[in-house]
Amino acid sequence: MDLASVQNEIERVIVTEEQLQKRLKEIALQIEADYKDQDLILVGVLKGAVMVMADLSRHINRHLDMDWMAVSSYGSGTKSSGVVRILKDLDKDITGRNVLIIEDIVDTGLTLDWLSTNLKSRGAKSVEIMTVLRKPESATVDVKVKYVGFDIPKDFVIGYGLDFNEKYRNLPFIGVLAKHMYE
Ligand code: 5GP
Repeated sequence: MDLASVQNEIERVIVTEEQLQKRLKEIALQIEADYKDQDLILVGVLKGAVMVMADLSRHINRHLDMDWMAVSSYGSGTKSSGVVRILKDLDKDITGRNVLIIEDIVDTGLTLDWLSTNLKSRGAKSVEIMTVLRKPESATVDVKVKYVGFDIPKDFVIGYGLDFNEKYRNLPFIGVLAKHMYE
């Protein structure tokens, strides 16, 4: 879906499609170098990470495995609950494996802090995190994120997998949702 289709619903675009794809290519190169000759499994966090998983993985020129988890986050609101629940678990055993969690956004950090601790406790050899967006001003826990696409202000954003009430995931860019859409 293009910008013209949502012009009145968006306050501003903060990351364009071009900026996103350029940054994902850079991160893919770093991942190739960091995991050279090592096993790698990407774990995408549904549903927000679908777009980044599809694009990032296609920029990585090596074999890798993919798996998915779904955890609860904001429900239908715009505030973090801090309560994490597994809605869909991994299909594969990650014992002894190098896991790279692929996430859309780190806001308070609560979800990823919980998720990386959970995956480490299953005996993974390593657990690292890649996120498209990070809101440094919102951090309430200090999670170590190895690959960050963009640091952004703490506005509520949508697009490129990120939703508001399940909509806007299919935008190829990231925008700030206009306040009149939820206030
Ligand atoms: P955290 O636990 O870091 O506070 O929040 C992580 C989850 O909250 C993300 O995976 C995402 O689902 C949701 N979230 C946080 N900030 C935003 C935002 O600005 N827009 C949208 N659509 N979701 C967000």
